[in-house]
Amino acid sequence: MAIMEYLLEHKTHPSVEEIYSALSPSIITLSKTTVYNTLKLLADHDVAQMLTIDERNICFDGDTSPHAHFLCKKCGKIYDIFSQGAVKEVLPVNLEGHEVTEMHYYYKGICKDCLKE
Ligand SMILES: [Zn+2]
Ligand SMILES: [Zn+2]
Repeated sequence: MAIMEYLLEHKTHPSVEEIYSALSPSIITLSKTTVYNTLKLLADHDVAQMLTIDERNICFDGDTSPHAHFLCKKCGKIYDIFSQGAVKEVLPVNLEGHEVTEMHYYYKGICKDCLKE
């Protein structure tokens, strides 16, 4: 429960590591494996998204509405992209006989904050 709450409160696409360090002081019995397994379970039940945009870190998102993600190659921040055209409508379509249940849109580049520098 605490993990789901953390995800909904922190829209920063936290990694297992970040969630673990944030929650472990208050939940002494918590282990990294528990955090990972819980997040995996939430993702399996479509209440969270698992993002593999950053190959060094698996991140999680409590927002399951269709949106794309943008990873800044400079600062490593992950942005939510809601603009039209970035994401095609997610429909349970059939692709050559395969049933599609999720689609991921990953964009990479330099974010607006890093461009200002
Ligand atoms: Zn950046
Ligand atoms: Zn997101």
